[in-house]
Amino acid sequence: MPRANRRRPSGGDESFERLLSGWKRTETRRGREWTVQPVSAAQAQKDYICPGCARTIGPGTAHVVVWRADGVLGDTADLAARRHWHAACWKTA
Ligand SMILES: [Zn+2]
Repeated sequence: MPRANRRRPSGGDESFERLLSGWKRTETRRGREWTVQPVSAAQAQKDYICPGCARTIGPGTAHVVVWRADGVLGDTADLAARRHWHAACWKTA
C-alpha cells in the first residue's frame, strides 16, 4: 500500500532524534538564524524536494537539513518545518 503523503514530516519519524543529537551548525541567511544539519549519504534514505532548485534529493545523496534557529515557533515546530536542501543549493540560497 503506498504511503499517503511522504512529504509531510511525521512527528514520530526516526530521524527526529538523530537530528537533535547530531552535529550541527548555525548560519545566518537573510537576517535570520538557521540550524544546518549535514546528512550523510548513508543517512539519506528517502526522496526529498530541495526548495532551492525544486529537484529531488534521492536516497544515498549527502545533503543538509535546515530549520529556523531563532526559536520563534519553538524547537518542535521549527523541526517539523525543517527542509532538506542540496548542500550546494543552500550555499547559494
Ligand atoms: Zn537543490
